[in-house]
Amino acid sequence: MILILRPDQPASSTTLAEIEALVREHEGVEMRVHQFEGSRHHLTEVHLVGQTAAVPSDPFALLPGVLQVVRVTTRYRMIGRHASDRRPVGFHYNGVDFGLDHLHVLAGLCAVDTPEHVDRMFAACQESGLETSRMGAYKPRTSPYDFQGLGASCLPWVFESAGRHGVRVVAMEVTDARHVDEIRDALERTGNATGVMLQVGTRNAQNFELLKAVGQQREFPVLFKRGMGITLEESLNAAEYIASEGNPNIVFCLRGVKTHLGDPHRNLVDFAHVPVVLRQTRLPVCVDPSHSVGRGAVAPDGIPDIFHVTGQGIVAGATSVLVDFHPSPAKALCDGPQALLPEDLPRLVAYARTMRAAYEAAVESFQGEPAGL
Ligand code: PEP
Ligand code: MN
Repeated sequence: MILILRPDQPASSTTLAEIEALVREHEGVEMRVHQFEGSRHHLTEVHLVGQTAAVPSDPFALLPGVLQVVRVTTRYRMIGRHASDRRPVGFHYNGVDFGLDHLHVLAGLCAVDTPEHVDRMFAACQESGLETSRMGAYKPRTSPYDFQGLGASCLPWVFESAGRHGVRVVAMEVTDARHVDEIRDALERTGNATGVMLQVGTRNAQNFELLKAVGQQREFPVLFKRGMGITLEESLNAAEYIASEGNPNIVFCLRGVKTHLGDPHRNLVDFAHVPVVLRQTRLPVCVDPSHSVGRGAVAPDGIPDIFHVTGQGIVAGATSVLVDFHPSPAKALCDGPQALLPEDLPRLVAYARTMRAAYEAAVESFQGEPAGL
């Protein structure tokens, strides 16, 4: 059971003591207090765990300091969308709203290589009015002989360039807990020129120690990429690890699954799961068309497959798109074949907005329809 307290209650409010007194009446029930700093309000949730099935919700709902009582199913206690749950989806980070009403394109390099390429990419983002990007400094590669990313050494100039171009959030994969400290240090040294969304890659989707580490800090939100060889349910449970450690600011990213049934695409595009994730959880959903499709093929209608699947994800309700670019794909040290050119970015952004408008029109047309088919 989750008790959502009225916002902005001081820690000394009597509500917690009142809840504690009620909880003491029930053996085998424990309370855990979670505090969240929203963009405008300080929020407190009290989670009752243990034998809660027989605990009535009314006595808690009647307390003046309690705004809402949510009965949770045991699955996805933290990230799940539970019956009667009216809490908003998403979060604000560094001035950017990752709720369901805003579409974000996180366009950038799969792997950071030179300051010139990074500068050109951020400049392209700025010209397209984007405040979000992606940059890989720590690359998990299939072969140990492949380029592993520049690591901590590139962070200062990457963050400085992001700040110079008005980019507020850079999605950056971490493969080890110490990378989070390196990112924090580098950001501080650049006077927090930008912000970082920590990316957990598909290969680490079940690296539980890494999930716990990114969950134990709240400074940075997390872009969690579904495991490419595990079920959606297993991936959602992995995201639950992050939230259960205390960090609810998660974007769930679909990026395709590994099977030859998706050939000639690099992975089988799984964006049909966008509404499933939105229905089962309270997480905003991102799609990654680059790692799903993996190639620059163009359909007979003139539209590249990477654009087509981007549209499919947005039309299904995704609110973020993570996409690879490179000013000179032939020279890219990682994933060149799937990189779009910076000059393609305005067209991708316009296309994404068109698809978002189509989605909004579709939602509008379903208002007032009976739920279910
Ligand atoms: C990436 O986004 O750079 C990446 C490695 O993606 P994934 O973890 O989905 O393979
Ligand atoms: Mn890549």
